[in-house]
Amino acid sequence: MSLQQITTIQPNDSTQPSGPLAGARDQFGRVIDYLRISVIDHCNLRCVYCMPEYGLKFLPVGELLTPAEIASVVRVAVDAGFRKFRLTGGEPTLRPDLLDIVRQIAAIPGASELAMTTNGILLPDLAKPLVEAGLRRVNIHIDSLDSARLTKIMRWGKLEDIWRGIEAAEAAGLTPIKLNAVVTRGYNDEDVAALAALTIERDWHFRFIEMMPFGSGECAQLARDQYISNDEVRARIEAAHGPLTELPAADVSDESRNYRLPNARGVVGFISPVSAPYCGSCNRMRLTAEGKLHLCLLNDDEMDIKKQLRQNGPDAVREILLKAVHQKPVGHRLHEGLFTQNRRMFQIGG
Ligand code: SAM
Ligand code: SF4
Repeated sequence: MSLQQITTIQPNDSTQPSGPLAGARDQFGRVIDYLRISVIDHCNLRCVYCMPEYGLKFLPVGELLTPAEIASVVRVAVDAGFRKFRLTGGEPTLRPDLLDIVRQIAAIPGASELAMTTNGILLPDLAKPLVEAGLRRVNIHIDSLDSARLTKIMRWGKLEDIWRGIEAAEAAGLTPIKLNAVVTRGYNDEDVAALAALTIERDWHFRFIEMMPFGSGECAQLARDQYISNDEVRARIEAAHGPLTELPAADVSDESRNYRLPNARGVVGFISPVSAPYCGSCNRMRLTAEGKLHLCLLNDDEMDIKKQLRQNGPDAVREILLKAVHQKPVGHRLHEGLFTQNRRMFQIGG
């Protein structure tokens, strides 16, 4: 369903669900069944489009949802029809009790398809224990295959550390390996052909993400000045490797449009929230590390689930989750220069 189609749909109160469901529906009829759970806002890197290098304040530990609280929210979400769960951050592997979080979520019937998005640096030690705890897949973020350029864009990151993380994930069976890059003009736009070429010999999935603005600081300015569309990225990849063949969408809510290079084993994907918004098929809800439901990535609307959980227990969580789903906004307004002001990407989780 396109954004244009969905904005013509009239809100309908009869879509408000009760009881276990195949998927909670919002007021526009979208099935919302994917919860992205940020477990921490801290990070061991400072990617240029995500965080300023210095001067950040992170959440105190007492503000973070505990593993038991996260599991409570997931239990309620499963009962409300959510089926996909992904841990993110900040950098989720910095959370000392990450294995406990994974173990508690993976033990919930209906939440076993658990994935994580990470910069991969700590995976050499963590990949195997994470699999044993119940994690199924990871998306690893790598912006360049050139050491100097990777450090320019991911600042405190080193190519060899991330590469070791990718190898550890593959060896531990966190497959299919999915890799992400945010393409930023003047930083890694000359790397896109080499990154896409990783999919020729390997059964990997490489996704190029368009940079989005958040807040009002240097990262938002960068997203305005150094933005590069996925049409341009695609043209550069095709100029180097030949035509990409589009693959049928396995899942209508997949934000990535997927292609294959000639004779390649893996997949090249394009996630284009700026040039080709996919709001009409968005199936996501986001839980921030301090327990707020963030209704849409590019919008400030939030509901406080931690307060409800701590004061009134899981029944109150169910009520607020269904309300959040029902009120999820449709269609971002980036083209009008409007986007999330109160949070940056590391405070939402991507
Ligand atoms: N630290 C982990 C990582 O980098 O994968 C997980 C959190 S990070 C916020 C999640 C995703 O957001 C990453 O794939 C990252 O590339 C993406 N991201 C961060 N800032 C972005 C921005 N301004 N625009 C688009 N994607 C962004
Ligand atoms: Fe950290 Fe991920 Fe943000 Fe990079 S994109 S600074 S790795 S949270």
